[in-house]
Amino acid sequence: MKTLLTNLSPAEMAEALQVKPFQARQLFRWLHQKQIFDIEKMTDLSKELRARLTETCEPAQLSLAHTSESPRSTTKKLLFRLQDGETVESVLIRERERVTVCVSTQVGCAVKCSFCATGLSGYKRNLSAGEIAEQALHLLSGENIEGRHPNIVYMGMGEPFRNYDAVISSVRLLMDKEGMGVGARRITISTAGEAEGIRRFAGEPWQVRLSISLHAANDDLRDELVPLNKRYPLKTLREAVGYYAEVTGRHVTFEWVLLDGVNDGMKDVGEIAGFVEGLDATVNLIPFNPVQGTPYAPPPRGKSESFRNALVARGIKTTLRKEKGQDINAACGQLRRQALSLGA
Ligand code: SAH
Ligand code: SF4
Repeated sequence: MKTLLTNLSPAEMAEALQVKPFQARQLFRWLHQKQIFDIEKMTDLSKELRARLTETCEPAQLSLAHTSESPRSTTKKLLFRLQDGETVESVLIRERERVTVCVSTQVGCAVKCSFCATGLSGYKRNLSAGEIAEQALHLLSGENIEGRHPNIVYMGMGEPFRNYDAVISSVRLLMDKEGMGVGARRITISTAGEAEGIRRFAGEPWQVRLSISLHAANDDLRDELVPLNKRYPLKTLREAVGYYAEVTGRHVTFEWVLLDGVNDGMKDVGEIAGFVEGLDATVNLIPFNPVQGTPYAPPPRGKSESFRNALVARGIKTTLRKEKGQDINAACGQLRRQALSLGA
């Protein structure tokens, strides 16, 4: 088996490849700063070392299968082929003031939320740390970000806390100063409510942000929308989030996909208020991005605004994006569907 270079930090490379720490840093910089995956082009490594690495190592785990740009170039989606022939997608969202990269953590997703395109496609396997980090490297390679620092959101295909160790390693790779050096506060992990993962995440020594996909604040409805709720019902979830907030002192974001006539009524407003009470939290409302094969539709604009206003009136920090179809979550939630329609 060849050594998969993008799974490794500089220290792990030095150990695994039996090279000097400075050589490992050089190699890491080629991959993570310059996005050069051709070992022969790594000209500051000796000829002998390059020959040995070429023989024993695999420099990249992803190959680009397809690129699609949205009509006004606000989003770029990349479809990657993995070494075993599976595919994953990632998306880059360009806004005036920021650039956001949305990465996948699994091929498909076993949580099977009833409104999510990824959930409909079933679950295949976890991604490795390198397969996750490489998505960001490829998305940002050649991108003119003009001094804007990229944000990385773990909101693509898959449930990050079902692949905890690889996700955490990928965050370390992306934060590494010899590589992209992404600031912890620019990274957000989104979970459908893996309570154990949330508790574990509270112990990580960094300021990486946490986002929780709530979508319903009563157990009957949440069981239906997010089946993981049967394992971790709202009470268990609330305790885990409370623990996280207490241990870290950090703010949390709740995601709420607005489904017309399902979770956009005044009853839901009251339930959300009850759930977030006592937390430093923001509720991020995301009008549903329609997915074929689901019975849902987004609410009319006016209804979404009333829902937002009702939450704000209860003293809850709430966001609702202005432009339609621009939302990062909505773009991420569409990933697998897009991949399938590309014939992958
Ligand atoms: N599995 C994780 C992260 C990936 S999903 C999670 O569920 O949090 C990222 C976000 O996109 C979630 O908040 C999810 O609910 C949302 N999403 C999924 N499908 C969507 C759709 N069709 N429209 C809008 N948001 C969607
Ligand atoms: Fe999985 Fe998240 Fe989609 Fe639910 S919303 S099926 S957890 S990817």
